[in-house]
Amino acid sequence: MKFGWTPRVWSQGSADSGELLSYPSLPELDSFYGELQKDFSGFVSLEKAGHSVQGRPIWLLTITDQEVNAEEKQRVVMVGQEHGQERSASLALLELARWLVTPAAAEIRRRQCIGLMPVVNPDSWEDLRFNNVNDVNLYADFSLEDEPTQPESQAVADILERMQPELFCSLHGTEFGWKYRMGESNGFSWTTSQFDRSHSRLFIEEINRAAESAGFPQDRGEEEAERILPWLPGNIHHSYYSGQRVTSCVHAYHRYHTLANTMEVHHPRSGLIRCITMLELGNKPWRTEAVAGYPVRTMFQQDETFVSAYGQTAAERRASRVELWGHTNQFLVARGVNEPVGMAVTAFSLDPEDYDRWRAVEIDPFLQQYGEEQGIDVAEVRAACGRFPRLQSLRCDQIKPVANAQAKPLLRVASQGLALRLRLPRLAALQRVWLDGRPVGASPVDGYESWNTRNGFTMVQFNVPPRADSERFQRHLIAVAYRAPRIDRGEVV
Ligand SMILES: [Zn+2]
Repeated sequence: MKFGWTPRVWSQGSADSGELLSYPSLPELDSFYGELQKDFSGFVSLEKAGHSVQGRPIWLLTITDQEVNAEEKQRVVMVGQEHGQERSASLALLELARWLVTPAAAEIRRRQCIGLMPVVNPDSWEDLRFNNVNDVNLYADFSLEDEPTQPESQAVADILERMQPELFCSLHGTEFGWKYRMGESNGFSWTTSQFDRSHSRLFIEEINRAAESAGFPQDRGEEEAERILPWLPGNIHHSYYSGQRVTSCVHAYHRYHTLANTMEVHHPRSGLIRCITMLELGNKPWRTEAVAGYPVRTMFQQDETFVSAYGQTAAERRASRVELWGHTNQFLVARGVNEPVGMAVTAFSLDPEDYDRWRAVEIDPFLQQYGEEQGIDVAEVRAACGRFPRLQSLRCDQIKPVANAQAKPLLRVASQGLALRLRLPRLAALQRVWLDGRPVGASPVDGYESWNTRNGFTMVQFNVPPRADSERFQRHLIAVAYRAPRIDRGEVV
């Protein structure tokens, strides 16, 4: 049975009395890491990620199948015990490390690289201090502009910078390891972010349900927060007083468009179940996607137009995602859809000045002007548009998550590639697909891909490979002619 797991009994603290769990001492932890690395040298590597204020090492355990090409793997970082006495979080990660070397985790090891930092605040491990010895809250020792102030949080930031993971989890918990307590939860970090347009809540709900069906009740940190009047002063409309703090989770999201989750873990087994469930979700295609992965690929959506990361491998998608994410405030789409005709067209640009030039223009003169300026033949697309409504021009800086609050030079071309998507009605039959005025065929490199999404749409993705030249701002015209099925009373006819 997947979750049939016996927690290890550590010598320190009380033995498993039925009331409290036992905890390892720091030397016991070191020997546990050493044993794991020795016994599973094909999966486990151990390194010092940094050190505490008092010079204690902060260890990173990396677990992955070292025989599989790293380019193909997604990356995950999980940290525990940023709050010193919350040792149940560490226990969950130690149990996860033990599970990850078992045969049950073989597929996860093949497809993901998982970095675990079970004890981030070692100076406070024995003293049961919430903060570090400098009395700094390590979880919140992050800012949008600067590096962390403490060596412990800097170690977390360094690993995040190196891995730029698809998934990051900060695990919290209790001092004593109560075996039963009503009050676990997931996803708190989003109460600090007004910008989230990811699928985090849907993702989190899947792990809530996995824990609940194993007997661990879960609070919904945000969904139950009654934030219906969020502009009223004070934090009274938040279930959790996270305020405007920049936590390690916000940091990961803000810098790398990482799916981030703050978990409260009271029983380590509950934390284990939720961590395993998350890792398994990463091996499946998300509800909008064709390929397996965490839902971090799309960084912008305006109705039927999406801007996503380019790439056939996890490494390519990561490089593209991180590059594009810092420039979402530059994304500009002018789009028109004519469902009865079965035609969708979108012009994409990285040039902020196109906002004024493209706004509220009729489709036909717009296409003519676009074709002349870009030196491409748009006659076929113009003809297919037929009786088309006005183009809408939309700027997307309202979604700006702050990644580019730091002064960054304008991105002129997507040097790591770009994936532009048009989302069509359910079961649409593609008739013709154009990129920059020319019909294109199916190709994951420089053509289109199409699939039916689990949430009920037809997705067409245009793959625009990496570019090096930067003489001009990058612009593209994408268009699809399609036949939509007629739907009567919910039935496709
Ligand atoms: Zn905490």
